[in-house]
Amino acid sequence: MSGITLADIVKSKIQGKELQTVTVQKQHERIETCIACPHSTMNNKLCGKCGCVIEYKTKFEDAECPIGKW
Ligand code: SF4
Repeated sequence: MSGITLADIVKSKIQGKELQTVTVQKQHERIETCIACPHSTMNNKLCGKCGCVIEYKTKFEDAECPIGKW
């Protein structure tokens, strides 16, 4: 699984797709998973696997962890 990246989501938005965001609780759960993940870098700001900004990527329903953690 490669995961849907933040870049993919931005492209979808540019193409006119409606983007859904997750609840604040769900985003926090995703962020907690990222913080505990060995692939988070830059003080848990970036995912080292996909290069996405964790704070933004975790907001979108269609986003996916590239290794299937969320
Ligand atoms: S998106 Fe997945 S691989 Fe990247 S830091 Fe979060 S849990 Fe780890």
